[in-house]
Amino acid sequence: PAAPAWSAVEDYLAETVVRPDRTLLHAVTSAAEAGMPPIEVAPNAGKLLQLLVRLSGARRVLEIGTLAGFSTIWMARGLPDGGRLVSCEYLPGHAEVARANIDDAGLGAKVEIRVGAALDTLRALKEEDAEPFDFVFIDADKENNPHYLEWAIRLGRSGTVVVIDNVVWDGAVLDPSRDPANVRGIIAALQMMGEDPRLDGTAIQTVGTKGWDGFALALVR
Ligand code: SAM
Repeated sequence: PAAPAWSAVEDYLAETVVRPDRTLLHAVTSAAEAGMPPIEVAPNAGKLLQLLVRLSGARRVLEIGTLAGFSTIWMARGLPDGGRLVSCEYLPGHAEVARANIDDAGLGAKVEIRVGAALDTLRALKEEDAEPFDFVFIDADKENNPHYLEWAIRLGRSGTVVVIDNVVWDGAVLDPSRDPANVRGIIAALQMMGEDPRLDGTAIQTVGTKGWDGFALALVR
């Protein structure tokens, strides 16, 4: 089956099982209205992130790549009372739209958006001696994926869950020449998940409204 069938099935599954509410749907339309690319996770993936946050009992979530806050809202809704999510975003305009969406969702007190290059924010979090994060979602500039994965380990603890989005990249992961900088980063992080004794991971291929892609999931040992 071709791409249109994958998308139709994904829409069916999202409408039947996931049922994103108006606040979440607004986060997506607000991104489009602000001229952002439609690169937020699909609703079924957002719900998976929320379930993973809950299944792991996470109280502290770190997100790298906020965009308009769609995945942020999914994950923050999975936090218990007193839980906290820190999201890193480079572009002030994106952070501003996300802030409004997160406040609309009633999650303002749980979510902090830090504007700037994520590598700087991650270093700052370490210097601040931030409490370990229980769950880390990596979804920003793919070339930095291995650095973000290293920071996830440093800012985490044994048992921290790490999710990396977009690890198949329309199959380019087997043909780096199609997008050298991004694919190099994607591959380096996948190799690290396979080889680094501090990590225990898997990677899942997906098709749907976001095309042919996938995500990797690991536990920090
Ligand atoms: N996680 C979001 C969601 O699913 O709703 C989508 C995030 S989007 C794929 C990637 C975001 O990362 C963009 O908003 C982009 O501006 C941001 N970004 C890119 N490079 C960055 C960097 N070096 N530091 C922080 N954010 C960055």
